[in-house]
Amino acid sequence: MAKIENNLEVIQQHIEQAKQRGKVQQQVNIIAVTKEVDVARTKEAIAAGLTHIGENRPEGLSTKLQAIDANVFWHYIGSLQTRKVKQVIDQIDYLHSLDRLSLAQEIEKRASKKVKCFVQVNVSGEDSKHGLTNEQTIEFVKQLEQFSKIEVVGLMTMAPFTEEETVIRNVFKLLKQLQQQVSELNIPNVPCTELSMGMSNDYEIAVEEGATFVRIGTALVG
Ligand SMILES: *Cc1c(COP(=O)(O)O)cnc(C)c1O
Repeated sequence: MAKIENNLEVIQQHIEQAKQRGKVQQQVNIIAVTKEVDVARTKEAIAAGLTHIGENRPEGLSTKLQAIDANVFWHYIGSLQTRKVKQVIDQIDYLHSLDRLSLAQEIEKRASKKVKCFVQVNVSGEDSKHGLTNEQTIEFVKQLEQFSKIEVVGLMTMAPFTEEETVIRNVFKLLKQLQQQVSELNIPNVPCTELSMGMSNDYEIAVEEGATFVRIGTALVG
């Protein structure tokens, strides 16, 4: 296994180059996705300077939280069952998978502080993917104004698994357009300024298209 420090340096260089190619200037936050690695490797990631850690299962999250006492931001990036909200919600700083009203209602009931949420959008419309369509996203965020425990900081998507760069790029472009549209609605609790998009295989394209949070597992800690 390569040292995380070295992986991080390469990824940071790629991000800088992508920003230049895309003529963009946003701050890009790297989320180290540690779902496939153990506590020791996660601690190595934190020692390398990573301050955003992502998990996608309640069990994985609680294992890491019990073993790690560090001043980092915890991201929940998987789909979250309503019955698991109670267990997870006060442990995390960001939720990347808000996709239904029942989940919002449960968060409102269980959270003791405001949670930064990304609304998950299925831009590509693939059946296998979670998330709302573009039209549903607009309707959904309009209903979130009433929730005092939810702050919609942005939108999240996963690009389809394909080699075709134009297909992937188009998904990211569409998410950015939708983010701007939602932001302009000026809904209380819905600033929607952030874009969570890009993984190991496509983060450079995502950054070119405006990603502010990239979620990287394999290329960083794998
Ligand atoms: C696993 C996962 C990632 C990271 O994937 P890699 O390809 O290993 O970088 C990012 N986002 C989500 C939602 C994931 O489940």
